Amino acid sequence: MSVISEIVAARAVILARMAAAARAAARPLDSVRLVAVSKQQSDDRIEAMLATGQREFGENRVQEAQARWGIRRAAWPDLKLRLIGPLQTNKAEEAVTLFDAIDSLDRPKLAAALAAAAQKLGRCPDILVQVNTGEEPQKAGIVPAEADALIQAARDAFGLPVRGLMCIPPADEPPAMHFALLAKIAARNGLGELSMGMSEDFETAIRFGATYVRVGSALFGARAAISKT
Ligand SMILES: *Cc1c(COP(=O)(O)O)cnc(C)c1O
Repeated sequence: MSVISEIVAARAVILARMAAAARAAARPLDSVRLVAVSKQQSDDRIEAMLATGQREFGENRVQEAQARWGIRRAAWPDLKLRLIGPLQTNKAEEAVTLFDAIDSLDRPKLAAALAAAAQKLGRCPDILVQVNTGEEPQKAGIVPAEADALIQAARDAFGLPVRGLMCIPPADEPPAMHFALLAKIAARNGLGELSMGMSEDFETAIRFGATYVRVGSALFGARAAISKT
């Protein structure tokens, strides 16, 4: 099979599984959107994915995303790029310049840096707060007990457009409890967007209310072995 036919087929399968999961949860089909996680994927797969009509992409590193999308942005004006990986404050301006959404706000200092960058650049991406639902020390995200305060500070003190929450459950636990916790924190803060669910668990995430699922390997195929995240 050619790359394009592989990608077309893989995307059709994922969209059908998303639709079935939404239907099973009695949710409207258009209430869940697919974020194609393009990190570490080759140019031919990226071009093939664009040719399918997919427009929303997730990247976990600023520099890598610039290299992949900096030029393509101009050719695809309806592209939506989401930063789904941790962000250092010294890259806040680059991130605000490139991304339409930053899904990994996880500390007050970063909220301040994003607000300053948005002010300076005259544009502000949508913001999701990343919650470390498993309280894993090596993982980014605010711990659940401090999430409400960060959400309020980001919105009220820094004026950021906080739309929702993102989480990455621990790899070695059933994800359902983590998805339920994220949905609960979002609900009590009046937030509508939930970015949760990856290749292995997006159907469960849809059952628990995901509005974005972030799918990489099940959509593009295995990533190049540059690094593991
Ligand atoms: C890489 C990555 C994904 C996609 O993972 P797959 O298992 O390949 O679907 C989703 N979310 C984040 C934050 C990632 O870093």
